[in-house]
Order: sequence, then structure tokens, then C-alpha cells
Amino acid sequence: MKTLPETFGTLVFDDRVMKARLSSKVYNAMKNTIEGGHHLDPAIADAVAQAMKDWATEKGATHFTHWFQPLTGITAEKHDSFIAPSPDGGVIMEFSGKELIKGEPDASSFPSGGLRATFEARGYTAWDPTSYAFIKDKTLCIPTAFCSYSGEALDKKTPLLRSMQALNKQAMRILRLFGNEDVACVRTSVGPEQEYFLVDAALVDKRPDLLFCGRTLFGAKPPKGQELDDHYFGVIKPKVQAFMNDLNEELWKLGILAKTEHNEVAPAQHELAPIFSTTNVATDHNQLTMEIMQKVAKRHGLVCLLHEKPFAGVNGSGKHNNWSIATNTGVNLLTPGDTPYENAQFLLFLCAVIKAVDDYQGLLRASVATAGNDHRLGANEAPPAVISMFLGDELTRVLDAIEKDEPYAGTEKTVMKLGVHVLPKFLRDTTDRNRTSPFAFTGNKFEFRMLGSSNSIACANIMLNTAVAESLKQYADALEGKENFEGALHDLIRQTIKEHKRIIFNGNGYDDTWIKEATEKRGLLNLRTTPDTQEVLLEKKNMELLTSHKVMSETEIRSRYEITLENYVKTVTIEALTMINMTSKLILPAIESYITCVAESLNQKKAAVPDLCGNYEKKKIVKLSELEEQIDTALSALEATVTQVKMIDDVTEASHMVRDTLIGQMTALRIPCDLAETLTAKDFWPMPTYEDLLFSVK
Ligand code: ADP
Ligand code: MG
Repeated sequence: MKTLPETFGTLVFDDRVMKARLSSKVYNAMKNTIEGGHHLDPAIADAVAQAMKDWATEKGATHFTHWFQPLTGITAEKHDSFIAPSPDGGVIMEFSGKELIKGEPDASSFPSGGLRATFEARGYTAWDPTSYAFIKDKTLCIPTAFCSYSGEALDKKTPLLRSMQALNKQAMRILRLFGNEDVACVRTSVGPEQEYFLVDAALVDKRPDLLFCGRTLFGAKPPKGQELDDHYFGVIKPKVQAFMNDLNEELWKLGILAKTEHNEVAPAQHELAPIFSTTNVATDHNQLTMEIMQKVAKRHGLVCLLHEKPFAGVNGSGKHNNWSIATNTGVNLLTPGDTPYENAQFLLFLCAVIKAVDDYQGLLRASVATAGNDHRLGANEAPPAVISMFLGDELTRVLDAIEKDEPYAGTEKTVMKLGVHVLPKFLRDTTDRNRTSPFAFTGNKFEFRMLGSSNSIACANIMLNTAVAESLKQYADALEGKENFEGALHDLIRQTIKEHKRIIFNGNGYDDTWIKEATEKRGLLNLRTTPDTQEVLLEKKNMELLTSHKVMSETEIRSRYEITLENYVKTVTIEALTMINMTSKLILPAIESYITCVAESLNQKKAAVPDLCGNYEKKKIVKLSELEEQIDTALSALEATVTQVKMIDDVTEASHMVRDTLIGQMTALRIPCDLAETLTAKDFWPMPTYEDLLFSVK
């Protein structure tokens, strides 16, 4: 049997394969493109395509595809085979540089928020050589960007790459000011922790809500949920372990650094964390991870739920976006250093993030907004919808001392004059891990915890990179050419702390008093729902940020606004329709049958014992009949609103009706249905219950 190092990355056209299969001229040209962002000569592309095809066909691949990430949030692929007819009636395998570099998928069915209508009917895909090609299902997948012919991005990768460039440009200006002449570029890295649920596939088949919406729309709470905290880090059940082993193997072959696996807080909930990589690669890998999780689960008779809130009353699933900035020479710019200079540089980058998160809270919140994630943010489990930052006690004390020009009362008594006095060595491991903070500093990286489990991480990182690029730009503008660099630096850091300390909060983010303080005293944004966040996206300040750093054009931003809201309206409408269907076809008939059964039983009893009072049966019949009435009323109201929503053309208006009316009516329908479930005999209930689902996998 092959060892893990031998099988790791065997399905990836990575550096090892390129080194072995490309001439040194072609290899060096590729390296220049990957690392330096230089343009690739078409002749080189031909040689690379040839080598890719040979390698892929030797591994059994028959097709190739440009693999891209349209605005649907999932990946897309259209397979073409390598075959070309040969004169003798057979086929040969062909793949040209042109086919590698550019593709023209029929793009008319992907969401574009009106972009393609305004510009070009067709879009094209363009090879992204910074993310390795790989083989999946006998198909050579080439990671690509997806644009319209007029150059507007129709995907999530293009703005992500642009945001990385923007950050690189500004960070390099800062690094030069600190005399780092050896650094050629700066990249952001991400390690996304992915949460998910596993449930028995046979049970899911009996639940239209899970099948169509990925979450339960009904279900009474089981007697045992997550109250005992006995699932988190608990022993992994054999069936789950078998799934995880299989999953790891598949991911490793694809060069994905799956590292940590454990049970999460809710029953049936688990987590997978990879070792971090460059943001662009991490994004591709996370998309692949989600896809393969679902595929492997099926093989094990399971369904992997990536929805943010599959079950009411137990924790939902998120994705922690661990993010840092590093130089190509391997220095993490968010690590406190050993020398005063390194520490001053660290503090400046730290301040850049603080300022960015405060200035662009709205954009960060908007970047994770979906109908699914609205259930999570603001509920009593995940970070609240209000963004704040956790820095830990020591770092907060350091910033405090700098702000007040006071001696730092930490481990060493030192006046905080940057570059003049030695800064204390910060605790590299923040001891206090605040699990409730939406944006926490964890020693050498920030952890942005608001992402939903099904979100593409591209969106959050686009905003984060660009917002930090803007802080760094303002810093570089202020510092370049200054005679007294140290003095100017000190002032800048102090000023940032003064202006932005309102975003720093080390306490309990679940607390209601915090939400009050955050919004009323500190003026922080509390954007509860997707429509609220999208309004913010269109604000002048936010538009200016994205356009001035050339990350998105105004049209691109507007198209994303539309797509997000369209998706919100469609998702909730599908849920409402599924509820209507389940209520009328499954739930009401089940209650009716049970009432009839109870009534018949009462009749029979009365026939046997004529003066029997039959209170139990009568009460049950009355209670369930009342619930039927309530359900019927709620059902009619919901039906009327769905019809109304469908008639509204303007997506903003439709999203408001969904937010303000439809969602409340769905809750109003669910309550009597869940109550009826608790009063109806199990044999009569027409679908697996929460108990069945949450404890189904042994
Ligand atoms: P936790 O205690 O939250 O599980 P870990 O240290 O295990 O934290 O890391 C969680 C994730 O953070 C992993 O995916 C890891 O690779 C990632 N990570 C660690 N260092 C960095 C970094 N410098 N940049 C980005 N991600 C990082
Ligand atoms: Mg974490």
C-alpha cells in the first residue's frame, strides 16, 4: 500500500509534476507567471497544455474542463473530451495552449445581475495559472476566471485576485518604508474551518424540506439536543470515522491539506480544517472540499448538510476564515516580532486591520449575507450580526498605553514610544480564546467567524483584502517622505487607536447588553438581514473603496447586489412553497388520520363501555382540531404572500416583502405544526423527526 506522502497530490498538476515534465525554459516561464504574475507566452501555453494532457491521460482522464466559480456560489464545469479523429478511423488525444488559456462556455444561464444584458451576450473563461490544475472524475479541471467580453467579472475569483493585488501593492509600500528590500510580494493566506452535519440518507429521502431546501422547515425539539455539551470533541462514531477517512483520502489526492477533524457542538455536527494556503488556492480548495464532502457522504449512505441552519434549536454551521498576511520571504506580518522595529511594523499592520474592520463593517457583513446565514447571525450561538474585534487583554493593554502615552503595565514597564523603546514581547498565544467574537485576533492571524458554512470564502476575503489595502494606502500616503518617520508612525498608530477603538470588544458577544452598547453607545452597525446588508453595499463610501482599488466596477457591484437579493428571494420563496406543500400533502392529512383513529377508538370503547367519559380522547381531538384550524389559517396567509412576492418585479421590493412578511408567516405556520407533531402518535407522523435525524448516524 502506498503511504500518504506518496499519494498526496497525485491528482494535481503541481510544481513537482511541472518540474519533471516541462523543459526548464517552460518551467521557469510558468514559475514567473505563478509567482510574479507575468504574462504567459502562447508558445509556452502550448507546451504546458501538451504536458498537462499527457499527464492527465496517463492517469485515465478523458476530458478537460475550465472549472470556474460563477455567482451562484458553487462551481461550474463543462466537459470536453480530448479526442480528435485520426485519418485511420481512430482517435488521438489533443489539447492545445489555446484551449488551456481560454474557454467559451455558454454562459447565458448563469446569474449576471443584468450584467450580460448590458454588455455582451457571452462570457469567457481564462486560465488562472496561480491555482494548480487537477483531475476529478476522469476530467482535467483547469481553474479559471469567468468574465464577460467587455471584461466585467461574472465570477468570484476575478475580484478576489484583484483584491489580492490591491493589498499587495499597498503592503509593499509599507514594507519599503520599514526597509524590507528583499520582499518581492505579499500574499494573504486563509485556513477555512468548515462545519457540516451528517445525517442518514434514507431519512433525508423522506423529508422534502431537506431534499429541496437543505434544512428542516418543521420539527419539534427532541428531548435531548446539545444541552449536555457531550458532542463537542467527543468520540467520533465508526460510521462518521469511515466517512472522514474516505474524505481525507480524496482530499489529499487533490493536494488539499485536510488536517483537523472533530465533532462539533450540535449532535451530528462535525468540522474539518485544512492547513492554510494562499487565499486564491484556499478558496478553490474550499469549494472542492464542500463538493467532495457531499459526494463521499453519498457513498456512505449519508447526506452532508452544508446549510447554515439545518435544525432549529441546535447550533448552525459556519466557516471560520483564518486570515493573515505574509511576505514571499515567509514572514507573517501579523506576528509580533523580536525587535522594536518588527513590532512597530506589526502594530501598523494590526492597526490597518482594526481600521479596515471598523471603516468597512457594513461591507464585511454584506459579504457573508445569505438567507441561510440570517438564521445564524444574531441567534444565540454564532457571532452576532454586529461586527466587533477581539484582541485579547494583553494587546488591548498595549494599545491602551500607546493611546494614552502611558507606561505599559504589562510584563515590562516601558513607555510606548515606538522604535525608541523596546516593546514588550506580546504573548504569541492568546490565552483567552473568545468564541463569541465575530473577528478575533488569535496570536498570528485574524479569525473572521461570520461566514456561513455554505458561503464561498471568496466574498469575505475580497472585502477584507480591499478594506485593509485602503488602510495601508492611507498609511503609506501619510508616511512616505516624512523626515521624522518614527514620530509620524507613532502619531498614526495613536490616531488609529483613538478613532477606531470602538470596534474593539473583548467581552461576551452573545450578551444583549453588548448589542445595546454596540449600537447605541458605539454606533456600530447591526445589520440583521440580507436586504439590510445589501443597501449598505451600494453606499458611496463602499462603492468608492471597491472601485478606487479596481477590485470591482460600479456595474459589477450593482450586479452582485441584484444577484444576492434575487437569491435571497428565491431561496425563501422555495422554502415557503415547500412548507405549503408539506403542510397540505403530509402534515394536515396525518393529523386528520390520527384524529379519525382516536375518534374511532373512542367510539369502540363507548360501544364496549357505554358510560365511559372518554376525556382523554375528546381533549386530544379538540386540541388537534384547533391546531388544524390554526395551520389552515397560517397556510392561507402564506399562500397569499407567496403569490404576491412572485408578482413583484423589483428585486429590492420583493426582498422587503420576504423579510417583513413572508418569513414571519413561515414561523407562524411552523409553530402549530410542530405542536401537532408532539400530540400525534409517531406511527402517524409522516416524516422522520428531529430525534431520528440528529441521532441517526451510529
Ligand atoms: P483553532 O484553535 O481555531 O482550531 P488553529 O490554530 O487550529 O485554530 O487553526 C485553525 C486554522 O487556522 C487552520 O486552518 C490553520 O491552518 C489556520 N491558520 C493557522 N495559521 C494561519 C495563518 N498564518 N494564516 C491563515 N490561517 C492560518
Ligand atoms: Mg477556530
